Order: sequence, then C-alpha cells, then structure tokens
Amino acid sequence: MENVRVRFAPSPTGPLHIGGARSALFNWLFARRYNGTMIVRVEDTDLDRSTLEYEELILDSLRWLGIDWDEGITVGGDNGPYRQRERLDIYQPYVDKLLESGQAYHCYCSEEELEAERQELSAKGELPRYLGKCRDLSIKDKEEKCALGVKPVVRFRVPEGQQIVVDDMVRGRVSFDSDGIGDYIIVKSDGIPTYNFAVVLDDALMKVSHILRGEEHLSNTPRQILLYEALAFELPRFAHISLILGEDRSKMSKRHGATSVVQYRNQGYLPEALVNFLALLGWSPEGEEEIFSIEELTRLFSLERVSKSPAVFNFAKLKWMNSHY
Ligand code: GLU
Repeated sequence: MENVRVRFAPSPTGPLHIGGARSALFNWLFARRYNGTMIVRVEDTDLDRSTLEYEELILDSLRWLGIDWDEGITVGGDNGPYRQRERLDIYQPYVDKLLESGQAYHCYCSEEELEAERQELSAKGELPRYLGKCRDLSIKDKEEKCALGVKPVVRFRVPEGQQIVVDDMVRGRVSFDSDGIGDYIIVKSDGIPTYNFAVVLDDALMKVSHILRGEEHLSNTPRQILLYEALAFELPRFAHISLILGEDRSKMSKRHGATSVVQYRNQGYLPEALVNFLALLGWSPEGEEEIFSIEELTRLFSLERVSKSPAVFNFAKLKWMNSHY
C-alpha cells in the first residue's frame, strides 16, 4: 500500500483511555507496516473540558507505549498547527464557502425551542432531530434576531432523501438514511467548530488516507461524508474498530478495573506487555502464537485481520502477558 497517512486525534479531556490507546496503536502499526506517516493532532474544541495537562498526559502515555509520530503536535510538519483551537483561521474560509453556497446557514433557535422540537418528534415516535426551522430565514428575520443579541450557530444543510454508504474496511458497507440525520451544527455560537466539522477539514487538509478509529464514531461518519462531498474533498478510507467490552460483555468502564494507560503504568505493567495485549484486542495474526514484540507486530499487522466482533478485555491474559516480558 502506498502513501499511507494516518492520524491519532485525541481530545485532551481525560487521560489516554485503553480504547484510545488501541486506536493509536492500530494507526501506528498500520503506518509502520506500510512505511506511511503517523500524525498526532489534538482535538481541543471542547473548551470547557480540554486542558494542556491532559494533552501532556496523553502524549506521555503514547511515548511510554513506544508510539511515536512523524508529524503533529510537538514535532511539527507542513500541515500544522496541530491543535484545533489554533486552526480557527484555517477553518473560516470553508465556513464562508458553505454559507455562500447555501449548504450551511445561520440558526438562531434557542435551547427551549430545540427541546420543544425534540419532544414533539419523540412523542410522534420519530427520531429527535433539527427540522430546519431557520433554513430559509429572511434577512429581516436575521436582523431582528441579531438586534436581540442572539448569537447564531452555523448548521449544515443535510440533503434530503439520500442514502449515505460508509464503505468500511472492517465492517463492510453500512448504509445511513440522510433523512434521519437533521441539519447539524458545524460552528457553535462562540465561533468554535464542532468535532464533525473540524475533523473533516483536518483530515482532508492533512491528506489523511485512512481513518482508523473506534466504532463509537461510526454514526458520525455519514455526517462527515456529507461534508467531504459538499467541500469536494477526496474521501479517505474508513475503518471502525469494534468496542472493547469487559468480561461481563458490557462496555468496558471503571467498574471493570483500570481504564487508562497511566493506571497500568502506575501498577507496574510493562509497556511491551500492554502493547502486545492491546494489539490483540480485535486483531489477530494467523496461528496460535500470542506473544509478540513490537517489531513483529509492525511486520504482521493488517486491517484484513481486524475483527468486527467486540473485543473482550481479559485481565488474566494481560497479567499473563506481563509475566512474559
Ligand atoms: N477526538 C476524537 C476522540 O477523541 C477523535 C475521533 C476521530 O478519530 O475521528 O474521540
């Protein structure tokens, strides 16, 4: 495979979770396997929850695991800056372009109006979504809202009646109906882009070829594909990695034990063991062998052998692996 460019894009709102670490590892193994480029950028658009301390903690956990990167935060590159908060000027022309072409519009609805709409739809048994009340406001309407001091958000106008197909390298073809989506916010009222918008611009401008991330993002992907289409960007390939479950088969959480890399580090686990263990959470090479060095993993890794069934976090196996190093 040629020109592989992948990225890990953590939000610095907490320590590096094992799910995030596995995504970072799969991206890294994929990049190293195909002599590609690994990018790390920081998705800090959640102003209330993002901190520089968490950013540092996440980067430190990556380094401890032995995951390095070729472009991105702390190392630079031609496509930076690599913190989304520092990229607002880069995003603005794309917001303007969508507004000018009518593919996006300002929405002045209050939280109360939106809540009333959600309740009305739920009562009718329909999916709660924005029905486009502000789609065709007149200039006069807008001026009135502005005079009242209402700061608008920018919404993307979702095309009606379209099937959006995610051609996923792990999950196969997954189809979504655009009518279930509703016009979604791409820029918040404080001028900060939302995740779905910033992620598309960054992935396109950083020329990311493959997006490998957790399955929890699969439902965001049709929204993102619509933006790729609206902005005439080339689509990357997508691969959504299955959820990590606890041994009782419910979603892995604190209840099951340590969930962040730093906790395992503090408990004395070896990075080689954790890498070995995380690599086998959803991926398996041919054969029965279970102990692999990081060099072996980079030689063997392929997306064809990533499973779409959920991966179960087996603490006993992690302990057993740790005793092998
Ligand atoms: N910032 C997102 C997260 O931490 C990344 C999602 C993505 O990889 O697109 O979940």
